Amino acid sequence: MKISVLGAGVVGLTTAWWLTEAGHEIVLIDGAGRPAAGASGANGAQLSYRYVAPMASPKMLRQLPGLLLPGEDAIKVSLDTELIGWGLRFLKACTGAEVARTTAAQLALAELSRAELERLLGKVPLDFGLRTAGKLVIFRKAADFVAATPDADDPAVALTPRQCLELEPNLALDVSEFAGGLYTSSEQVGDCGSFCEQLFAKLKESNRVDMRMDTAIGRPVVRNRRMTAIETDRGVIEADQFVLSLGSGARAFAKSCGFNLPIYPVKGHSITVPDEGKPPLTHSVTDYSRKIVYAPLPGATRIAGFADFQGYDTTPVPSRIAQLKAAAADTFDIDTLGDVAASDVAPWAGLRPMTPDSRPVIGPSPLEGLFLNTGQGMLGWTLACGSARLTADLIDGKPPSCPVAPFDVARFS
Ligand SMILES: Cc1cc2nc3c(=O)[nH]c(=O)nc-3n(C[C@H](O)[C@H](O)[C@H](O)COP(=O)(O)OP(=O)(O)OC[C@H]3O[C@@H](n4cnc5c(N)ncnc54)[C@H](O)[C@@H]3O)c2cc1C
Repeated sequence: MKISVLGAGVVGLTTAWWLTEAGHEIVLIDGAGRPAAGASGANGAQLSYRYVAPMASPKMLRQLPGLLLPGEDAIKVSLDTELIGWGLRFLKACTGAEVARTTAAQLALAELSRAELERLLGKVPLDFGLRTAGKLVIFRKAADFVAATPDADDPAVALTPRQCLELEPNLALDVSEFAGGLYTSSEQVGDCGSFCEQLFAKLKESNRVDMRMDTAIGRPVVRNRRMTAIETDRGVIEADQFVLSLGSGARAFAKSCGFNLPIYPVKGHSITVPDEGKPPLTHSVTDYSRKIVYAPLPGATRIAGFADFQGYDTTPVPSRIAQLKAAAADTFDIDTLGDVAASDVAPWAGLRPMTPDSRPVIGPSPLEGLFLNTGQGMLGWTLACGSARLTADLIDGKPPSCPVAPFDVARFS
């Protein structure tokens, strides 16, 4: 089958790979001149297979009124009309039952992702700093630490502040400054942007993918209620099937197809700080209270965080970058101003394509001929390979490799 994959972020690229592997002919279309130009560029680098915490939760519901006030909180919200409709669905998802449903669905998809990434790397070695670094989540507030107590089937172990410091000696916190941590030794890190560039190169080498970069996507062409082609600024492209993986651009495209896809762009920031000599940390560390992650990558530390509901602007905001630098200094003694020249610290921002219930949308769309694989939100890097596998399974009519019902777009109708 000739399949056109819309979007060359990590979700579109992995989708293209898995569909090529299944024997399909692919046309990959993206408006940017390079892969991973959107949210997949310099994200938090966490392959967070066990820590999938959905954003919509009863706790978030209690915090919401405070988030609407101005300040330098980890989450910022500016209401707009798109966000109001999305927000109402988000509120509905803030129940214990929905959190349990989402967590179970994400854990199954994450497990599939891990296995599929391993399988991919067995076939095509890619070098993007993949490492089983282990993930330490630190909690500054005792109540948060208690609430996060792992279940019996959770491989995470609870650590005292002293044990956290023994595990990660460069953590520049006093034992009195935090309540404890959760450590999961099996979690991985890897540079998503570098993975995307290399997978893109492999797809190109395969000669089975027609790459249409620098090509802005317009409207679908629909004949007899089936999508048969797509309008672009470089002409009309026909295919037997289309896969929508446009990240935060997916909502607008779905609208032009006549259906609603509640995906809101949740902006995050990162800095990448070159190591000076010895790397400052050996594990991946998440500061739960500040919503900041620290990832050891080859020759650099990636520091990422925040969730700003403020529209589609992707420009890094100086105050957010300053917050990341300050956090790096007081949590790990990472000096981004002195010895490391400010110009070596790479500031970046991206838009997480977020659904109200934090679950991706994977499955057929209301428009025949258009398949959906998008909305991976906070976990797009973690879930990409599993989502691609599910997409290939479903398009080929094979039994899906993990439960797909939780990802059906019909849940929003
Ligand atoms: C600060 C931050 C930290 C993060 N940390 C992590 C993490 O640690 N672990 C994790 O698992 N996930 C993380 N994420 C989430 C993850 O990065 C995203 O979920 C993932 O990158 C989404 O991939 P995507 O391919 O769906 O979207 P994108 O990467 O945004 O790709 C969409 C593509 O579509 C193209 N496009 C859009 N509209 C059009 C159009 N009209 N015409 C043509 N092309 C178009 C864009 O150019 C882009 O290339 C983080 C995100 C951010 C912002």
